Amino acid sequence: MKQLLTGNEAITRGAWEAGVRFASAYPGTPSTEILENMTAYKEVYSEWAPNEKVALEAAIGASFAGGRALASMKHVGVNVAADPLFTLSYTGINGGLVLISADDPGLHSSQDEQDNRHYARAAKLGMLEPSDSQESLDMIKLAYELSEKYDTPMMVRMTTRVCHSKSLVEPGERVEVPLVPYVKKDKFNPVPAISKHLHVKVEQRLKDLEEFSNNTPINFIQWGSDRKLGIVCAGAAYQYAQEVYGDSASYLKLGFTFPLPGKKIREFAAEVETLLVIEELDPFMEDAIKAMGIPCTGKDKIPIVGELDPDILRLSLLGQSNPVIEHDDSVVAARPPLLCAGCPHRGFFHEVEKLKNVVVTSDIGCYGLAPKDIAICMGGGFSVAHGAQKVFNMGDTGKRCLGIMGDSTFFHSGMTSMLEAIYNNSNVLLTIVDNRITGMTGHQENPGSGLTLAGEESNVTSVAEVAKALGMKHIKVINPLNLKECADALKWGMGFDEPALIVTRWPCALKRLTAPDIEEFGPRDKKNCVDQDKCIGCRLCIKTGCPALEYYKDEKKVRINPAQCLGCDICTQVCPKNAIAREEN
Ligand code: SF4
Ligand code: SF4
Repeated sequence: MKQLLTGNEAITRGAWEAGVRFASAYPGTPSTEILENMTAYKEVYSEWAPNEKVALEAAIGASFAGGRALASMKHVGVNVAADPLFTLSYTGINGGLVLISADDPGLHSSQDEQDNRHYARAAKLGMLEPSDSQESLDMIKLAYELSEKYDTPMMVRMTTRVCHSKSLVEPGERVEVPLVPYVKKDKFNPVPAISKHLHVKVEQRLKDLEEFSNNTPINFIQWGSDRKLGIVCAGAAYQYAQEVYGDSASYLKLGFTFPLPGKKIREFAAEVETLLVIEELDPFMEDAIKAMGIPCTGKDKIPIVGELDPDILRLSLLGQSNPVIEHDDSVVAARPPLLCAGCPHRGFFHEVEKLKNVVVTSDIGCYGLAPKDIAICMGGGFSVAHGAQKVFNMGDTGKRCLGIMGDSTFFHSGMTSMLEAIYNNSNVLLTIVDNRITGMTGHQENPGSGLTLAGEESNVTSVAEVAKALGMKHIKVINPLNLKECADALKWGMGFDEPALIVTRWPCALKRLTAPDIEEFGPRDKKNCVDQDKCIGCRLCIKTGCPALEYYKDEKKVRINPAQCLGCDICTQVCPKNAIAREEN
């Protein structure tokens, strides 16, 4: 019976139906749900890895041992996994191996909108691009067949719109694929003498894959009512193009987009008057088609920046726009990105803001919503602070650097970033905001949280003990709800001429507390309110940035929204009139 599934759910289902045995990932929007859904399929061992490189390496191990394996990540995660990926392309596989790259055109939740189709070309491996959930399910199954037939890792490139949109899917049954016996092979050990030969095989494999691409029905021509306009498209762009042109245009719909089907593209181009390439982000297909000597248009009209939609296509290609509903935007209050109400780490950031001549380098976790000066990528908070501090020290700036990252980020790629500062005698102050979960992507467990993806109890890795083992001599673990403790710790840390670490340890405001959390931090069962008689409207509490605090202009008073308050007491500590107190039940 048909089911309504998101693209991510369909990928999970398809991988299960394909007989996958092992799946590993690091969470990241829009890919996170692929592994979250996998826990429902007990035949697949599924896990969170500390980072994407490790996830792919573990999947490589599973594949070489003979099982079908999956590694899943968002687009920037593939940057982290690129090192093993390029070598994997040379070694090939044993059990089929598929890498999901979930790209984010429009930066719904990312720091850039890179187009990961370039990875398939750079690493020289086959790539599939589904347009909806049914294709997601079908293509991942096909990807495993191709992986084993052509001895290649296969990449399936998803985008946010395909990952999160729902469409009807016809699910099938799981096929139990026997383990491929492990036999020691030279290709698994790619030293230079072996890799020279492997490269020759990779080049031949690309030719074989192009042959497949020319003949597969997932690259198909859909003739319209006439042949004046022929559109080459893939992924979500296929849906948008059809919405704009309907059957007034003809389509070459590509599902296998690397290597591109050169012969099929030539045949299609010869039949149409004008060839238009509609694709999101880079002119990946357009450039390749032009390089074949085939005239076409595309990015000269269609934006290269951002996610496409039918309205953008209509405007850029046909000059047509939809009527706009007039509204008074002066009534819409501007609201900067904020930490959650009751975020326990807000207290620490409140004290950080008071520091003078300090440059804060952070990265892309939820703590990136707090004030910061520089943020580059996961795990970069410490190493960027180190590099900046070295140069600040060369001048007479007196500037100090404060590097910040979360617990999951520390386990992801922050440990080497910390090691950089320790090894190279930095005088940076580092902080790990340990909220006991991977917050930004929606509360996935990590090596410090004590549970696996499947909810089984596991080892709790202590941030402070890891830092000590790395060689950090000065470590202070603090309660970030206590503003004085935060201020004292900052003063303490800035007093060293060598690296020092503050760990602010308290569970995320949105975390469902586990029994060990309650034992260590106590229950979360309080709310605060403002005594309206005592409040003088000074708004010092508002400056903490907690969205539960609301200022009423007419009354010149603050109130606390009880639906949001978690009783963390950070506002209580800044009120000069003791106007904030526990709400009586
Ligand atoms: S106690 Fe104050 S700072 Fe904490 S959640 Fe409530 S209103 Fe916000
Ligand atoms: S800090 Fe206290 S007195 Fe000032 S606005 Fe807030 S509640 Fe009122």
